[in-house]
Amino acid sequence: MTELYDYEFLLNRVREALPETVKHHERFEIPKVEVIHEGKNTIIRNFLSITKKINRDPMHVYKYLMRELGTAGTIQGERLVLKGRVSPSLVQRRIDRYVSTYVLCSECGSPDTELRKEGRVELLVCKACGAIRPVQAKIDVRTASETLKEGRTYDLEITDVSRDGDGIAKYGNYVVYVPGARKGHKVKVKIIKIKKNAAFGEVVS
Ligand SMILES: [Zn+2]
Repeated sequence: MTELYDYEFLLNRVREALPETVKHHERFEIPKVEVIHEGKNTIIRNFLSITKKINRDPMHVYKYLMRELGTAGTIQGERLVLKGRVSPSLVQRRIDRYVSTYVLCSECGSPDTELRKEGRVELLVCKACGAIRPVQAKIDVRTASETLKEGRTYDLEITDVSRDGDGIAKYGNYVVYVPGARKGHKVKVKIIKIKKNAAFGEVVS
């Protein structure tokens, strides 16, 4: 007695019977970055193939990475060359975040989506389930340029007033308290003390 169908054969038939989106969804994994350092540069060796895999415009991914990593870079063939040394795990986290922000449908999880612009709003449209959501880019404000240092002077705009009447300015993740500064004014502020995300300064001019 012979078996009519072997296991592989049956499995293939089941796979063929699945709708395209389900197969796609099952296979999808966030691409892994291949990062090497050359001198003072960081190179993503498989940049273009990553953008192909997630079906997004390389320039869109490029601009996002520049903004999120706070660096400059150039696309050279398949590779993206970044100025400065960036750790591979940080690059991977940014790619992961790009995918969850700009690629994956938040309703069904499918990567089979496209970006559409309506006026100034960017929308993520899912081809699998039809869901539409506005893209909400989460910008990491904790970049080096936005770290306050005690003793340094910054140009700040007072945008609010505290209960005690101190002027309040925002800088990156910091709330800066400036006694005597008025709302709406732009002032030079010397930072006197920093406590976690709160900073205290005085007007110097
Ligand atoms: Zn969907």
